[in-house]
Amino acid sequence: MTPSQIVNYLDQHVVGQEEAKRQLAVAIYTHYKKIALAEPDKVEIIKSNVLLVGPTGTGKTLICETLARVLQVPFVTANATSLAQSEFVNDEIEAILLRLIDKAEGDIGRAQRGIVFIDEIDKLKAISGQQGTLRGTSGEGVQHALLKIMEGVPVRIKGAHYIDTTQVLFICGGAFVGLEETRARTRAFGFISTSESDNQKMLDRLNSRTKPTDLFEFGLIQEFAGRLPIIAHFNPLSREMMVRIMTEPKNSIYKQYRQMLANDGVELNIEALVFQQIADLAMEYKVGARSLRGIFEEMLTPTMYLLPDHPEVRQVKFTSLFEEPKFIGTRPAG
Ligand code: ADP
Repeated sequence: MTPSQIVNYLDQHVVGQEEAKRQLAVAIYTHYKKIALAEPDKVEIIKSNVLLVGPTGTGKTLICETLARVLQVPFVTANATSLAQSEFVNDEIEAILLRLIDKAEGDIGRAQRGIVFIDEIDKLKAISGQQGTLRGTSGEGVQHALLKIMEGVPVRIKGAHYIDTTQVLFICGGAFVGLEETRARTRAFGFISTSESDNQKMLDRLNSRTKPTDLFEFGLIQEFAGRLPIIAHFNPLSREMMVRIMTEPKNSIYKQYRQMLANDGVELNIEALVFQQIADLAMEYKVGARSLRGIFEEMLTPTMYLLPDHPEVRQVKFTSLFEEPKFIGTRPAG
């Protein structure tokens, strides 16, 4: 698949985040091309792992999951905070790789081409600060342990197997709250136009990049930040994007429920205002799109409770989140 074909596929499942989609599509395309072309005697092209920066619930995990699905490679997620809470970080890392093999249905070869997403990579500094009170591995210790598998040493795992992680793609994610300010501050050290002919757009682009040094403030060590050369930013979700998330993707929650009710011969209609009201509430919860499903399901639960006892109902219509739905057929009592 070419990068643009990957983006087209992502568009069917993930709303917005266009820039991140393009960056990831190129990263993924290059990564798997390198694997396909890898030959023992050729120049070794070093793998580029990816860092996803953006608020919680904006689609970072969803994009990785969707990519893995389209590429048909195994995918697992892990959490840097829980790695740091463990005294035996190497055991935890082994468990991640075991899950990857599990996802590959025991096929080590497939597992070795999988994707591992490590979330909350921006929380390691806070953890390091608490070492006095916490049993666990320091943020630095976690990074050193992760670096080993990112660089790809063969890891011996239970059952006397070895897994070589050289070709596993590692994607790290985090909210990195305050990174914008750091970036703005360090932009002063950026490239300066030296001649009239310099492409200002390209200069702006280079200068607005997040630099590895911007990540040090979040506890990332130099070697680790250096291993994440590709940084993709995820935007906070607007109210309009939230509405689109509920209605547009191929398996959006609205489409899922419409299908579920249609299976019982009931048509579900939810008016635009309702989605806007749900989006407004979700914006207040500040966890991105994470709260949409909960609010949506809560609205539908009374209906889902009544419907099976009332086969005469043919249509259910919601016109406001704060009003009872209208039933067409016979209105169920209760
Ligand atoms: P995070 O950025 O914290 O990894 P997730 O990708 O896990 O967030 O998003 C949580 C849920 O919210 C997903 O399962 C998905 O249903 C929904 N979601 C978040 N962002 C988007 C988006 N851009 N497009 C479609 N759905 C989204």
